[in-house]
Amino acid sequence: MDLRESPETQAFRAEVAEFVAARLPPDIRAKVLGFLRIERDDYVRWQRILNERGWGAPGWPREHGGTGWDARQRTVFEEECFLAGAPRQMPFGLSMVGPVLQAFGSPQQQKRFLPRILTMEDWWCQGYSEPGAGSDLASLTTRAERRDDIYIVSGQKTWTSFAHWANWIFCLVRTRTAGKPQEGISFLLIDMTTPGVRVKPIRTLDEVRTSTRCFWMTWPFRWPISSGKRTGVGPLPSSCSATSERRSQESACASGSWHGSKDVAGVSRSAAGRSSRIQVP
Ligand SMILES: Cc1cc2nc3c(=O)[nH]c(=O)nc-3n(C[C@H](O)[C@H](O)[C@H](O)COP(=O)(O)OP(=O)(O)OC[C@H]3O[C@@H](n4cnc5c(N)ncnc54)[C@H](O)[C@@H]3O)c2cc1C
Repeated sequence: MDLRESPETQAFRAEVAEFVAARLPPDIRAKVLGFLRIERDDYVRWQRILNERGWGAPGWPREHGGTGWDARQRTVFEEECFLAGAPRQMPFGLSMVGPVLQAFGSPQQQKRFLPRILTMEDWWCQGYSEPGAGSDLASLTTRAERRDDIYIVSGQKTWTSFAHWANWIFCLVRTRTAGKPQEGISFLLIDMTTPGVRVKPIRTLDEVRTSTRCFWMTWPFRWPISSGKRTGVGPLPSSCSATSERRSQESACASGSWHGSKDVAGVSRSAAGRSSRIQVP
């Protein structure tokens, strides 16, 4: 097998390297190469520079504002960004909730959320794990109850990376208790500024390193809040293929059925309370 890069790939590599060398802000590069702490604004700035170039979403199809690159191009892009000292692109919007919205979201949801992932106007975090539900998501207990046109969510999430920087969270909550525990789990999009959402830090050994300006933080996420619903178990859509990019979709799909695009929830704010109250859009 000839593992040498084709002239096209070499040209693409040179194009990426040249762009990153020219456009990566020196202060961000210095932090990355110096193993210093990278701030929220650093990630956002770099993402917007890439997005202006049309490279904001290397894994997305063009129809949604992505590059449409193949696996080789994405690998070359990541290699050159890494070698040049660029921060990694945050995966929560680009690799997790974004592909889910593309596969299952309504056109309205796609229009509302996808562009804001590209520009990082929204910072997403992932709310799956709970104090009693880690590898076994079927044991999750955070509940979302529908009352007329709102959902009331109560419970607790934990290990929610970057929750302190996020303004949106995608999470799994229980919307039905009957049947198998693997059923009745819904994927919800939640505005973190909704009254009732509280974020508290977890003290980890890494905090020692935080004080020396060196790493990322993990915070727990305390509920309540949410919207959207889904019940029962159905077949996986064909878009849930076994690629790494689709893992997030698969986990969402595997946890229950998707009754069309309505099941990826939109969110609006509502009144405060012990549990958060979310209006169904
Ligand atoms: C730095 C960090 C960041 C994180 N960020 C996020 C985040 O952003 N969002 C989020 O939702 N979660 C996050 N997590 C949580 C992480 O995904 C969980 O730690 C994970 O789901 C495992 O859950 P657990 O720690 O409760 O371990 P457990 O599920 O209790 O597992 C403990 C051990 O038992 C093993 N085990 C479990 N079940 C079985 C089984 N059936 N058979 C054999 N072995 C088994 C596991 O492999 C593991 O070794 C983060 C965790 C860390 C450490």
